[in-house]
Amino acid sequence: MTPHPQKTGNRAAVYSEPGTLKTEIKDLSIPQPGPGEVLIRLHYSGVCHTDIAFCLNEFPNQAAPTKRGQVGGHEGIGEVVALGEGVQSTSVGSKVGIQIAGDACLSCDACLVGGETSCSSLKITGYFTPGTFQQYKIAPARYVMSIPDGLDMAAAAPLMCAGVTVYTALKNSQIRPGDWVAISGAGGGLGHLGIQYAKAMGGKVIGIDHGSKNQFCRDLGADEFLDFTQFESNATLASRIKKLTGGGAKVALVCSAKSYPQALAWLRLRGTIACIALPEKPGSFLPDVGTLIMRELRIIGAKSGNRLDMKECLEFAAQGKVKPVYQLRSLDDLTKTFQEMESGVIQGRIVIDLKSRL
Ligand SMILES: [Zn+2]
Ligand SMILES: [Zn+2]
Repeated sequence: MTPHPQKTGNRAAVYSEPGTLKTEIKDLSIPQPGPGEVLIRLHYSGVCHTDIAFCLNEFPNQAAPTKRGQVGGHEGIGEVVALGEGVQSTSVGSKVGIQIAGDACLSCDACLVGGETSCSSLKITGYFTPGTFQQYKIAPARYVMSIPDGLDMAAAAPLMCAGVTVYTALKNSQIRPGDWVAISGAGGGLGHLGIQYAKAMGGKVIGIDHGSKNQFCRDLGADEFLDFTQFESNATLASRIKKLTGGGAKVALVCSAKSYPQALAWLRLRGTIACIALPEKPGSFLPDVGTLIMRELRIIGAKSGNRLDMKECLEFAAQGKVKPVYQLRSLDDLTKTFQEMESGVIQGRIVIDLKSRL
């Protein structure tokens, strides 16, 4: 193993009381990489709504409760500082990213069809394995993402989950240049990237959110913006979307789970609902199957993306076509950040700055 020079501790925010939003700063030891692993000095971590769900133990498909003292976070960007035995795929000094799939076997049926985030041996970062709200993290060398040169490391953090999820959803929706994309929750962490990816892929965008996000969404490239609070019914919102798009959107990118019952009515013939916001309760979205058949609609789910999706997602940002909007905060502000995210007041994404030392 290559020795690493760091002698300081590993500052981390841990879930001190899972089921609540309480977090606590701890000085953990710096882990050592085993065979096939690398040690990463993390510089930044984005904060995702899924982190809140893990912290609160309310993730719908969670196999077991989050353990007390777990380190959350799954949008990490850092630098390789030590290599475990046998690692040849990366080198010390490489800039790498950590995503929610912490490791995948790459050979099971799910992995073979590109569904690495559903791998039968999946290790979820920040839940099954310690996450990115810490300064040092071990990761399997085969599953770290290479970050393109010239891409700002803090800006890359939100792409590790929010970015790759919206990009994969749009890609799998098969949007074509000129297609209208209606995005609910357009001003949030997912939605603000959805606007930019949809535009970069040639789409036209209607952002749907609270009126306070209007200018923000337009500045990011939204062609139209609809303040959902200004419509007296779901039907009037749908008819406005149909009017603006000449018959309906090709894709409804649902970044706010409250929109699921409405989104079918926003679509044109052969349109697609791309589901990315996780509903709080299972079974909360029952489509009108008659409309689904008669208008030949599709409903697809997008759960993050695989390594190819991630590479493509990063490429848009490396070329300057997507610019994540983020506020930098310190690890000490994690609980406050969770609370603000729950209230929906944050524009764009929060990124934790992990560079400072104890
Ligand atoms: Zn996430
Ligand atoms: Zn697998």
